[in-house]
Amino acid sequence: MRKLDITEIKRLTPEDFKEAEKNPLIVVLDNIRSHHNTGAVFRTCDAFACEAVYLCGITGTPPHRDIHKTALGATETVHWEYFENTMEAVKILKSKNYKLIALEIAENSTHIDEYLPEKNEKTALILGNEVNGIDQKILDICDICIEIPQYGTKHSLNVSVSGGIAIWTLTKKMRYN
Ligand code: SAH
Repeated sequence: MRKLDITEIKRLTPEDFKEAEKNPLIVVLDNIRSHHNTGAVFRTCDAFACEAVYLCGITGTPPHRDIHKTALGATETVHWEYFENTMEAVKILKSKNYKLIALEIAENSTHIDEYLPEKNEKTALILGNEVNGIDQKILDICDICIEIPQYGTKHSLNVSVSGGIAIWTLTKKMRYN
């Protein structure tokens, strides 16, 4: 095996990406404190051609040096919008018939492997604050809560890591189901 160099990895140009068909998955960040986490989610959303990122509450917005450190330009390619509160964003998504999925460690959650979206189903994935998780009022109006199993000692995963796992898992099911 030989690693590919940058000229061999044929990614879209930012211009082509803008025109390209998107995965109908909107990632909602509910009061994310760390700009590094926000930037990392942008980078993942670029990789999996997500429709948009909704930045809510205290979540930082581009341009910001610390978001840029982990987004590495993805804030220029991924469509984003800012909402003062998460409830407003989620209500808009509900009115547009997006399936509201909470990514959370919660009672009666569904194992991430067991959730099966329909092909190209309009989906909003909500990620919670690093300390408090997703606001309970938001969780109450979600259609489903999916959870990533953990086998170690730590209570939770880093939010951008859990987002990466969930965005990929949902993307492959939405594309290939
Ligand atoms: N101490 C917080 C943990 C928040 S972790 C709490 O008690 O809720 C930050 C966010 O990462 C969570 O809100 C959730 O969206 C996501 N997350 C982390 N680990 C997860 C897991 N195992 N399954 C699903 N979501 C997870």
